[in-house]
Amino acid sequence: RKRQEEDHADLETKVQAIDLAAPITNFVDLPLSKATAAGLADSHFKTLTAIQQKGIPIALKGSDILGAAKTGSGKTLAFLVPVLEKLVLKKWTEFDGLGALIMSPTRELAIQIFEVLRKIGRYHSFSAGLVIGGKSLQEERERLGRMNILVCTPGRMLQHLDQTAAFEVDDLQILVLDEADRILDMGFQSTVDALLDHLPKTRQTLLFSATQTKRVSDLARLNLKDPVYVSVHEDA
Ligand code: ADP
Ligand code: MG
Repeated sequence: RKRQEEDHADLETKVQAIDLAAPITNFVDLPLSKATAAGLADSHFKTLTAIQQKGIPIALKGSDILGAAKTGSGKTLAFLVPVLEKLVLKKWTEFDGLGALIMSPTRELAIQIFEVLRKIGRYHSFSAGLVIGGKSLQEERERLGRMNILVCTPGRMLQHLDQTAAFEVDDLQILVLDEADRILDMGFQSTVDALLDHLPKTRQTLLFSATQTKRVSDLARLNLKDPVYVSVHEDA
């Protein structure tokens, strides 16, 4: 127990001491929990991609992020590693309810994110679930209350927030919008606004997409605080 407390304080100190001016190229050189480090190593992730190098240290330190990098550049780990570490640093346990919510515009992308989460999160005791429809609401509902991390599509998540009375989201620590430009576009607008209404405004928020979202109205809707723009441009 004491040892665990010391490890935790040590990790927190190392995260705060990250020098953002000195790029970290290997996962082993990032201050990460042993569980996340082992999950990454098991999955054979060794060096960080450009968006991961730029985004992960800033996200670990707690900032909101607006991240942009083309498809295939490794955005999934750029948010999943900070999500796991956020819960570690908050000393989240399996009994603490929903700590992280990851939104995706499609079921297929949500499933892909969930699979990567299961791989790199395998040594954590957090519970994780998918909320993408396809099963009965009742079936999903029964598992929801126990989940620490959810990967969802906006429509299905809103259905639960509107209908599942016992579903608590007040302690949410971190919200991720993957393919944020697609989630924030007109088609989803009212759903996303209604969803955001349910979520606590004090939280960390990470947005990632292939193109930079700079619409001021979107940033206002999301209650971002001093977001850091992180983008990777292709070589001209
Ligand atoms: P994006 O979301 O930007 O389109 P993904 O997160 O789906 O990109 O990653 C694209 C591919 O790159 C995946 O096959 C993933 O496993 C791989 N990948 C991601 N990060 C790394 C890394 N640090 N080292 C090696 N491969 C990686
Ligand atoms: Mg992606």
